[in-house]
Amino acid sequence: MNETELWLKIKESLSTSEIVDEEVYNDYITTAKLIKNDQDEYNLIVKSQFAIRVITPLKDVIVKAIKKHLGHLVIFNFITAAQYKENQKQLKEVVASKPVSPFATKKYSAMFENFIEGESNKQAFLASKMIAHNPGKQYIPLFIYGDSGLGKTHLLQAIYNEVTDKKPELKTLFLTSESLIKRVVDVLYKDHDAIESFKEELMSYDVLLIDDIQFLAKKEKTNEIFFTIFNHFIENNKQLVFSSDKSPDNLNGFDKRIITRFDMGLTTSIKTLDFETAVLITKAEIKIQGIRQSISYEALNYLATYYADDVRKIKGSISKISFWGIQNEVVKEIDMDVISTLFKDVSTANLGILNVKKVKEIVGEKYGVSVKSIDGKARTANIANARHLSMYLVKNILNHSLSQIGTEFGGKDHTTVINAVNKIENLMNTDKNFKLVVEVLKTKILSK
Ligand code: ADP
Ligand code: MG
Repeated sequence: MNETELWLKIKESLSTSEIVDEEVYNDYITTAKLIKNDQDEYNLIVKSQFAIRVITPLKDVIVKAIKKHLGHLVIFNFITAAQYKENQKQLKEVVASKPVSPFATKKYSAMFENFIEGESNKQAFLASKMIAHNPGKQYIPLFIYGDSGLGKTHLLQAIYNEVTDKKPELKTLFLTSESLIKRVVDVLYKDHDAIESFKEELMSYDVLLIDDIQFLAKKEKTNEIFFTIFNHFIENNKQLVFSSDKSPDNLNGFDKRIITRFDMGLTTSIKTLDFETAVLITKAEIKIQGIRQSISYEALNYLATYYADDVRKIKGSISKISFWGIQNEVVKEIDMDVISTLFKDVSTANLGILNVKKVKEIVGEKYGVSVKSIDGKARTANIANARHLSMYLVKNILNHSLSQIGTEFGGKDHTTVINAVNKIENLMNTDKNFKLVVEVLKTKILSK
């Protein structure tokens, strides 16, 4: 039964149903159209949003009728004609923009396009792109190392996506160490032939990407197997890519000869995110997760500063905010108050951005100006002095970077911060009383 026939039958039963008002039937049911999409979902297209509101109470009855006629439950929704048109248009665009290659569908969502580049990951990012564009031409192997959550797997999967997309003729394999160890343990239990055919299978690839290679260390027999495999790739100019949480030199548990091979191509590291990159990733994540509320400077900085050691934690913190945001739609801005209630588990010693606020408060009190005016643009002597001294103290006590301080003070340029710090240092050198004032304020801030 196609959807037109199905809808006819349902209309029939609705026309005789007591719960359907005649006017509703004539105005909204007779004019509606049932459409099934390729996900096996049924949509009833109606005239307007208002029509949806009117016939929503009938949803149960319609779903039951569909079930009765088809013999199984389906997903069913109301949709306006305008919405339907828009969906169709978007669908067409997606289809049209898809390259014809059967390899065009990406296996992983991690891509170069959604990797955010910064000082800390620049080298690894560039090296990965070069490898992806020209696998097997230089740098065999590429070895990327760094702490957890800094984007190693992301880069390996992006290489995989790019190579399978642009060079479908190459046989490419992405392996997690976990799955590799399972395979190895499995063949080791079998006979010599099993080991040989396993080696041959891996050596049949042109591009081999192994994630978290550190887990393969200290597995005695695997050394032998992988030595053969890695040599085969190197000798035949085929691309190898490894990721690890340690540099080759610190990878204990591998034979010296394997370590040497890790180091033969290009070894590059990803470091803990610098502040600017952390801010960019945090902002991107806020966009990705579609948070409706705006986020204050301080809140953004807080997240970027305290989760910079692991992008997963940034994502986790945004998920937490997103969930909170949905429940508290009336709140228009996520500020430090929200953050400090949401992240109660974070020890207050870590609340560095709150410390920035504390610095501003204590200095502001001394100069008789508000935190708001310290963050603002006014340049009256008292405000400017309080601003400069606060910047100096944040640098001196909390050791934040210049551009970070700029952001923390209402989005000022880092040169403004340099000038402020220099000015205060000069004053302290020439004016003993001023120096004393600064020392007292510093003690006060540190003792709070
Ligand atoms: P690792 O393998 O180093 O432990 P992952 O690659 O799994 O880290 O990264 C953790 C998460 O953070 C993933 O969702 C990844 O997409 C994301 N991520 C890491 N670095 C970046 C970056 N520079 N830009 C965008 N997303 C990133
Ligand atoms: Mg990983």
